[in-house]
Amino acid sequence: MSALIMRLALPALCFAGALILRDQYDNQGVINGSQDLTFFLVHLPYILLALAALLALLSNHAVEAGATLCMLCVYWLIQAQLQVRLESQPAGQIFYLLNLLLPCLMLAYAFIPEQSCRQPLGLGAIALVPVMIILLSRLLAFDGDLFLASAQQALSDPLFDGYLSTSSTTLYLGAFGACLGLCIYRQQTLESSLLGCTLMCYATFGWIHLANISAFMFSGIGVLLTINLTASLLNIGYRDELTQIGNRRALKQSAKTLRGSYSVAMVDADYFKKINDKYGHDLGDQALRVIAGLLRKTADGAKPFRYGGEEFCLLFKGKSKQEVIDILENIRQAIANYDMVIRDKTHRPKAPKQGEKRRGASRRNGELRLTVSIGVACSDNCEEFDQVLKSADKALYRAKAKGRNRVQAA
Ligand code: GH3
Ligand code: MG
Ligand code: MG
Repeated sequence: MSALIMRLALPALCFAGALILRDQYDNQGVINGSQDLTFFLVHLPYILLALAALLALLSNHAVEAGATLCMLCVYWLIQAQLQVRLESQPAGQIFYLLNLLLPCLMLAYAFIPEQSCRQPLGLGAIALVPVMIILLSRLLAFDGDLFLASAQQALSDPLFDGYLSTSSTTLYLGAFGACLGLCIYRQQTLESSLLGCTLMCYATFGWIHLANISAFMFSGIGVLLTINLTASLLNIGYRDELTQIGNRRALKQSAKTLRGSYSVAMVDADYFKKINDKYGHDLGDQALRVIAGLLRKTADGAKPFRYGGEEFCLLFKGKSKQEVIDILENIRQAIANYDMVIRDKTHRPKAPKQGEKRRGASRRNGELRLTVSIGVACSDNCEEFDQVLKSADKALYRAKAKGRNRVQAA
């Protein structure tokens, strides 16, 4: 939930920040005259967008790289071609084409599945805008008035009191709505970036008469893309892909910040090899996701991590030994009582009633029993984290030796 709020709030914050800063800049006559500052402002989006493009390429996010390159090209076109009256040509035609194509491009980037930079579709996403610009400039070089009539008609028919036509505004609204929907539905940062790009491009072209609007809005876009790409890089480094909880590196990082008393619990799935052997690796993966989800839900403030394989680790801060043992007992019971639904297609029964029967039966005869053994140790004697972890691991082995499906304190 908090991740969704972040994904939605970040574009809004970047937009609001760009808007407020432009307003401040416009109202302060002292710095308004400074040529150095204006030069810096106009070039800032190039620096930020180039940084974002580099991050996208280094992390092999082809669609993000394509969208960032698109923003770089659009900003360059604004600076190179649209610093004149829109009635003059080719500025009017470029403005018209940009505002038809941009929302469509945002939609296209939103629907292209994740690609690496070496895949054909990924390469296509990166090359799309530069190729389009080359083709359109060739067309305009061939016939300088090719889009003149449509551009003039669009300019004479703005929807609001601005420059954008009804069709452009409708396309922007459609792209915005789709990105918003996908941002809520999917759990990726790309849609958050595209949402912000659509919003800030619309504001730029809607208020193109305002001084430096493009520099501020495209700086906002650069900041947004850089933050989102950095966040997804951190995600790759610190999040376990299968279970979506922190990985071992994240655990080590959290351990560095530990102060005062804390407890470490090692959680290991029982007879997991048998589950894999009996139901297949896919169901094994599903079971690991279930365990991680239950750890997150029932850990009562403790942080869960995937330590490796079918082993998890829980970090408790500021809780007494008895409180920790009580929470762990709840976790153990929640996992043991979980009614696991087989989503594996080869095992899925056709009729729902049959499925219900089978689930009930499997629970009764223990076919799908998912249990964990837990070992826990406290840092009472101010030991090093690795020491506490080792003690928890030893306690876990004792829990296994005593018959599994139990909590054992060190
Ligand atoms: P014990 O009760 O003693 O812990 O028995 P166990 O079978 O759980 O332990 P063992 O170490 O023998 O086997 C662990 C199994 O966990 C073997 C491995 O295939 C499985 N496993 C590890 N990581 C994954 C994973 O990411 N997905 C799946 N499906 N299985 C995994
Ligand atoms: Mg195990
Ligand atoms: Mg194990």
